[in-house]
Amino acid sequence: MKIPIDKPILVTSALPYVNGECHIGHLRTYVPADIYVRMLRKMGYDAIFISGSDTHGTPIVLSAEAQGITPEEVVEKYHEHFKRIFKDLNVDFDYYGQTDSESNHRRTEEIVKELIENGYVYKKGTKQAFCNTCGRFLPDRYVEGECPHCGAMARGDECDQGCGKHLEPGEIIEPRCKICGSEADFKEQEQFFFKLSSFADFLITYLDKLGGTRNAKNYAKEWVRKELMDWCITRNLEWGVKFPGRDDLVVYVWVDAPIGYISFTEELIEKEEEWRKYWTEDKATIVHFIGTDIIYHHCIFWPAMLKGAGYSLPDAVVASGMVKIDGKTFSKSRGDVVWAAEFLERFHPDTLRYYLVAQSSHTKELDFSWDSFSTRMNNELVAILGNLVHRVVSFAYKNFGVVPEGDIEDEVLGKIEEIREEVVKAVEEYEFKKLVDSAMGLADFGNGFFQREEPWHLIKKGEKERERCGEIVKNVLQIIKAVCVLLEPVMPSKMAEVWQQLGMESDVHSAKLDEITVPIASGQALKKPKKLFERVEV
Ligand SMILES: [Zn+2]
Ligand SMILES: [Zn+2]
Repeated sequence: MKIPIDKPILVTSALPYVNGECHIGHLRTYVPADIYVRMLRKMGYDAIFISGSDTHGTPIVLSAEAQGITPEEVVEKYHEHFKRIFKDLNVDFDYYGQTDSESNHRRTEEIVKELIENGYVYKKGTKQAFCNTCGRFLPDRYVEGECPHCGAMARGDECDQGCGKHLEPGEIIEPRCKICGSEADFKEQEQFFFKLSSFADFLITYLDKLGGTRNAKNYAKEWVRKELMDWCITRNLEWGVKFPGRDDLVVYVWVDAPIGYISFTEELIEKEEEWRKYWTEDKATIVHFIGTDIIYHHCIFWPAMLKGAGYSLPDAVVASGMVKIDGKTFSKSRGDVVWAAEFLERFHPDTLRYYLVAQSSHTKELDFSWDSFSTRMNNELVAILGNLVHRVVSFAYKNFGVVPEGDIEDEVLGKIEEIREEVVKAVEEYEFKKLVDSAMGLADFGNGFFQREEPWHLIKKGEKERERCGEIVKNVLQIIKAVCVLLEPVMPSKMAEVWQQLGMESDVHSAKLDEITVPIASGQALKKPKKLFERVEV
């Protein structure tokens, strides 16, 4: 999607649910979102980047009960964990909040009240799963049973191992209590519903215009074309945001979680007239980065809620494919999982950032294996990029000490321009793999140029040859400078090292794309080069 340059842009990354540690499946969404924001800023956009921890819902209550601690303690522990992982990985949010904040409670209550006032919420008696042994209602994850759509084993609110559908309370077949294992009964209970069904026409028009990746749009459209059911938005729980006027009910976690995008913007910007530009006045572009498992929530529930309460609508939803480990779906119990913290103990964060985008196109499934990781490291980062930087900067440092004199050749400038266009197009299409492939293509071109011109044959000859040698070196340093700016969004700390080796005084993080064709200054002192990447043996 071409984004208007004259408007600010808000990029959000799906909220991690904080009842367990971060694994690389999570990072498939956060890392590309961070790359996208860094690239937008290089292109001259005014972008803000927010996310936060999703703290409510039954899984957190269940894990608190199992550990004999409070939900707040579970949240606190993993909220800090995620914040540390993001920091270690250079996923650089402008604001990272959490949905149990005072402002999120307030904003959620306000939006729910607006939906009630606008006539989109009604009360209805429903059958809810109830455990006679435990003497309690069993919302969402408290209950397990059979999916009414596909027959797979499902949780109370979602068919997580089968068709992926959202399940309404009471829909699950043969429910069992998750706490004690007994067969559950159904008991009459009054709940509140959101009239999702009345948004069908709106959603069809909205989804037609929605930007982002095709997988999100198509999946959501398919759903709207079938029957849209009204949506039960209350639960019998203590932990969560109270439904207005009812002390015994909280709103369903999928109501207050996305509202976090609004309250985090409020918490970041503070001034009401400023944050309202993003969320109620349509004066900004809103882009959500999510995983394909939550398309339904972001492309159907969320825009309908926003529309019903009179808020601005998201302009794009970008959905990343799921991550598998050696061809298998994630499973903690089987050990098919790669924890982010363990990975970062062994490898540089930039190598993981690179791998996550280089390994497969954003909307496709990513199959992680240590083999494919070491192949990408050794054949690309070491053999192409690391080799280019080390070989050329070492040669230049040893023979000149500074960036030598000379003009940048048309061939080189032309190539840089061509790659820049490819990269911009890739960003607009959310094709982060194309972005790295193009930038690595420029590094490869640099290696070829250096090899073809053989400057090492010229250095020991006469004055004229030495001059030509300097000119060749300067041209390849220019290519390295360009690669460095283009890859900074992907590998921010490694590219900062390269920038330093080139003797640049500015900051590569704030360097704009326009800078890649500005000739590197002759006479600027190079730094003693250090190897960028080590070979990986797994
Ligand atoms: Zn199912
Ligand atoms: Zn029970």
